[in-house]
Amino acid sequence: MSNPFDLAGRRALVTGANTGIGQAIAVGLAQAGATVICAGRRACEETVGMIEATGGTASTILVDFADPMAGKGLFDGQNIDILINNAGIIRRNASVDFTEADWDAVMDVNLKALFFTTQAFAKAVLARKGTGAVVNIASLLSFQGGIRVPSYTASKHGVAGLTKILANEWATKGINVNAVAPGYIETNNTEALRADPERNKAILDRIPAGRWGAASDIAGAAVFLSAPAAGYVHGAVLNVDGGWLAR
Ligand code: NAP
Repeated sequence: MSNPFDLAGRRALVTGANTGIGQAIAVGLAQAGATVICAGRRACEETVGMIEATGGTASTILVDFADPMAGKGLFDGQNIDILINNAGIIRRNASVDFTEADWDAVMDVNLKALFFTTQAFAKAVLARKGTGAVVNIASLLSFQGGIRVPSYTASKHGVAGLTKILANEWATKGINVNAVAPGYIETNNTEALRADPERNKAILDRIPAGRWGAASDIAGAAVFLSAPAAGYVHGAVLNVDGGWLAR
């Protein structure tokens, strides 16, 4: 029997692959055999180098989701089988002071760009009568409220909702749509939290695993949801959070 986690022969595109969780997922997909296109608003040379150093195949393309329609042409003639919607931003401020600019910036990158990039991917897969897998990067704030991050929480609740509706519409058409919800992971996104000793302690005290997650902790779940092993998994949001939500 062939290995159901093997991605040999598949082509994957990872957004925001130059750093953090996106970089770790790109490396994980390549280790599982996929050819990886690393998309970022900056070139993903470091990630490509990491993949090539272990014998994998990768390339980099520029895309800036500050224009939420920027992903529209990404899949033309590319035969991409796997889309990892990882690019995301966060803006922190009290809800009472939160600005329209901080609302729009986060919603555009985290939600609107994710939807229209996924739509473009699905159109390409359906046009060639192929199969595909979409893995969205959700958050604990797809389930919880958080504090001081209203547009982020709204966007990540939206990501969980889109994961379900797109799974409903495409499950019979050969496209699996699922999400990973990372817990508290040591990346640029959480730098401000780790720099605040009180918040850092409060967070650590609640994580059953007793440590912050590493970006590499997310890669295995993304590989699974991209692989034939997850062929009957549709609309799932898989928590990878050191047990946070179980507490
Ligand atoms: P990160 O290191 O800040 O990575 C975010 C990635 O998104 C970077 O590659 C960033 O590029 C890219 N990006 C931001 N704006 C973009 C734009 N306009 N166009 C294209 N790419 C853009 O943080 P991370 O933690 O790895 O975040 C990755 C995903 O995980 C995000 O969706 C985040 O919400 C989610 N997440 C993170 C955590 C956590 O604890 N860290 C928890 C739950 C969910 P630049 O490097 O150029 O900024």
